[in-house]
Amino acid sequence: MNAQPAPFADVRAQDHALAARLFDDVARMSPDVEGVSRPAFSEIETRTLKYLEDVAKAEGLAVWYDAGCNALFSLPEDRDAERFVVVGSHVDSVPFGGNFDGLAGVVAGLICLIRARREGRRFEKPVHVLAMRGEESAWFGPCYIGSKVLTGTLAKRELEETHKGDGRTLEAHMADIGLPVEDVQAQKPLMDVSRIEAYLELHIEQGPLLIGKNIPAAAVSGIRGNIRYRSITCHGEAGHSGAVPKATGAIPFWRWPIFWCGSTRAGRRSSTRATIWCSQAASWRPIRKNTPCRAFPTACPSASTCAARSRKRWTTCAPS
Ligand SMILES: [Zn+2]
Repeated sequence: MNAQPAPFADVRAQDHALAARLFDDVARMSPDVEGVSRPAFSEIETRTLKYLEDVAKAEGLAVWYDAGCNALFSLPEDRDAERFVVVGSHVDSVPFGGNFDGLAGVVAGLICLIRARREGRRFEKPVHVLAMRGEESAWFGPCYIGSKVLTGTLAKRELEETHKGDGRTLEAHMADIGLPVEDVQAQKPLMDVSRIEAYLELHIEQGPLLIGKNIPAAAVSGIRGNIRYRSITCHGEAGHSGAVPKATGAIPFWRWPIFWCGSTRAGRRSSTRATIWCSQAASWRPIRKNTPCRAFPTACPSASTCAARSRKRWTTCAPS
């Protein structure tokens, strides 16, 4: 619609400014004693989606929610497309997490839609941007809960897992935000994946490779699955699961010879480069004694109690 497109530098500056505003606003909605806490299937997560909804509507985009209570955005003319490309990520975070983890993938998609809408352009294929709930396993234990809900693959026992802050079940938290728990229990898929042409997700790198090589972005060539051994504690320097190259040798996981042999063999058998890594749980820094926080409203009375709790459940605080 614009006869004269704006110079590229101006456009880029505008997009950067908008992205910065979205990141800052969402961070302000979810601060904790360190970083941000946006628990899976929580009120904070709902408010984050509502904020993004308001931004998208003000730009003239179509906004709707799927049966999994995730937000979707598109150009108005692509809202009812039979087939589409999905771009997105998750808006929840781990306790005391980084603001960009997940949110960057949603904001990136949203900025593309807003840019296209402002310039009256369309994509080669319809694009739906997906802002997901409940992908971080730190709150309840099971991994990729939101994706499993959409694909009808969440196990019944996973619904009975309890929230590590308030002890209520995943099922109860899902009911609170309006998820159709009976359909989830019956493992009914809430999304028709055959309509999806492709799925693209921009995600921050949670390892040292790109910074080390001074590369701004790269395509991931392989990704590993997720198995968690909750009763094992590794001490030492840790890195994010799946993201730290074996060659750095920095992860305490490698000091477990039996695991190492097993996982290395598994890695060679699979086509991925990075297969099984030490969970980041062991690396969480101790939160201050007697400091209530948003993630865990009951303050840790002492670091040693924290460490004991971390062995029983997940690592709330690293042993001091
Ligand atoms: Zn993430």
